[in-house]
Amino acid sequence: MTDIVLLGPPGAGKGTQAKRLVETRGMVQLSTGDMLREARSSGTEMGRIVAAVMDRGDLVTDEIVIGLIEERLRHGAAGGFIFDGFPRTLAQADALEALLSRMGRGIAAAIEIRVDDAALIQRITGRFTCGACGAVYHDVTRPTARPGVCDVCGSTDLRRRADDTEEALRQRLLEYYKKTAPLIGYYHALGRLRVVDGLAEIDRVAEAIDAVLDAALPAPA
Ligand code: ADP
Ligand code: ADP
Ligand code: ZN
Repeated sequence: MTDIVLLGPPGAGKGTQAKRLVETRGMVQLSTGDMLREARSSGTEMGRIVAAVMDRGDLVTDEIVIGLIEERLRHGAAGGFIFDGFPRTLAQADALEALLSRMGRGIAAAIEIRVDDAALIQRITGRFTCGACGAVYHDVTRPTARPGVCDVCGSTDLRRRADDTEEALRQRLLEYYKKTAPLIGYYHALGRLRVVDGLAEIDRVAEAIDAVLDAALPAPA
């Protein structure tokens, strides 16, 4: 059981923490949001279908995202997978359980990054990311060292997401509470839910996640 799920509303800090675990623990991040944005920018048929759905803040169909995950699982991950933004519905969670157990893997912990809605507007409206390496920044809480230049890779291709508006966020939050928040009960019932305080500073959240992983995962070789 070396795989984990990061749960939390849009802007909770899932991507930020996942990127750090990739660097520190050699885990593999599987973000369905990133996969869908890639499909959009590469102009595939699927990308065209999902673009409008994403910009409205609605969820893409289970079929599409489960298909994306299934394909990536085939590559394996010795250090464990981090599921970031997936599963988002009970059907996706059931599908993930089935796919992993078929591979002899499993979710060791589902970590809920708990925040309140008031913090999310600020998080989302200040977010920008590096188009080249995916690093996540914030105008106030995590700016780049040099304005306009990515700290990690030096790229100047810094972007804001089309759905990071107050209006789309309202819809994304509604979708979260209707369809995704029930997963908190799902993983609780399986005995695998762990909660961290997502309102703390980025480094404090990271420490709390490390503590959960040290308790839940086998030590890295
Ligand atoms: P956030 O950073 O807000 O948590 P993501 O980058 O994970 O957002 O997702 C952006 C959008 O992509 C979602 O609003 C939704 O339209 C779509 N999406 C991503 N993952 C899923 C999923 N597992 N199921 C359905 N839709 C998804
Ligand atoms: P998610 O993947 O859950 O949607 P992100 O990791 O993209 O969330 O974070 C959303 C925004 O909030 C980003 O601009 C990020 O830099 C910032 N952020 C993430 N975690 C924290 C934190 N603990 N405190 C303050 N800002 C944060
Ligand atoms: Zn970069």
